[in-house]
Amino acid sequence: MKTIALLGTSREAQCIEESLHPAGFRVRQADCSDLDALEGIPLDESEPATHAQQRALLKARMAAKRTGLRYGVGIAGYMGLDPHMRVLPWAYEAIVWWDTSRAHAVFESAGSSRNHGARQLVWDWDGARAAAERAGFPDQALVVGSPGEPGYCRGIVDPGHLRNALEHALRDGEGAWVSVDLRAEFNPGRAALIRRVTAQLARRLAHRCETCGAAGLSDLPGVNASRQRLCHHCGALETQRLPARAAGSDAASVPRAARRGRPHGASRNAIDAPLAITGQLIEVAMPRR
Ligand SMILES: [Zn+2]
Repeated sequence: MKTIALLGTSREAQCIEESLHPAGFRVRQADCSDLDALEGIPLDESEPATHAQQRALLKARMAAKRTGLRYGVGIAGYMGLDPHMRVLPWAYEAIVWWDTSRAHAVFESAGSSRNHGARQLVWDWDGARAAAERAGFPDQALVVGSPGEPGYCRGIVDPGHLRNALEHALRDGEGAWVSVDLRAEFNPGRAALIRRVTAQLARRLAHRCETCGAAGLSDLPGVNASRQRLCHHCGALETQRLPARAAGSDAASVPRAARRGRPHGASRNAIDAPLAITGQLIEVAMPRR
């Protein structure tokens, strides 16, 4: 069992360990006293996916450095557009596994429509109660603030706390924002998405490059009866034959590396690897009844 460092909350550590444990990792939290400052790095709205992956990579590398461990893991959530029509708001989680010895990173991401961080301006208790109900309160925690101070009270899971925060926010007569709390420990949808993206990561880590031994090959679109995997560490491309359709052929069901080479544009530097190749698990929420 290897130990991997996380620069994140205890809830994130719990979610990640559940999925990484079968892959042979136990999670140790690094000092995260400056986590809010890291989370507050200004977002590049034009490239939220790339920015989130770079932020997750930074956290993974810092976690390994602070603990002196070889492995680090970082996670960052971001808002984007749905992957189908590119019009609906969509929540994503980006996760990065970092191997200090190889200077090798493995990226993964997953998306969901469930926890898209709804926010509503309300003017009284009835409006706040309706907004809270739509958000799934109290299972889903809320953030209440005034227009000039939208995040002043976080982690609200109690109706009495909600009412007090609302009265404070409404004191200037300019309305109050009622928002979903996006932190993993207060957001069941985000916690579930972190588990999913970590499980995807664990499955990718199980595949090691036959050329250099680095973990976490990317699946590429296959051709006919084959599947291709790309190593972002050395650029090797492996082609795996899929089982033949004809039953009873044991030889045909044994996968083997059939071809290797450096594809056009492949980088030796994992950090510069094209991020779009990482897989995405898409989850669609059903309307609340
Ligand atoms: Zn390799």
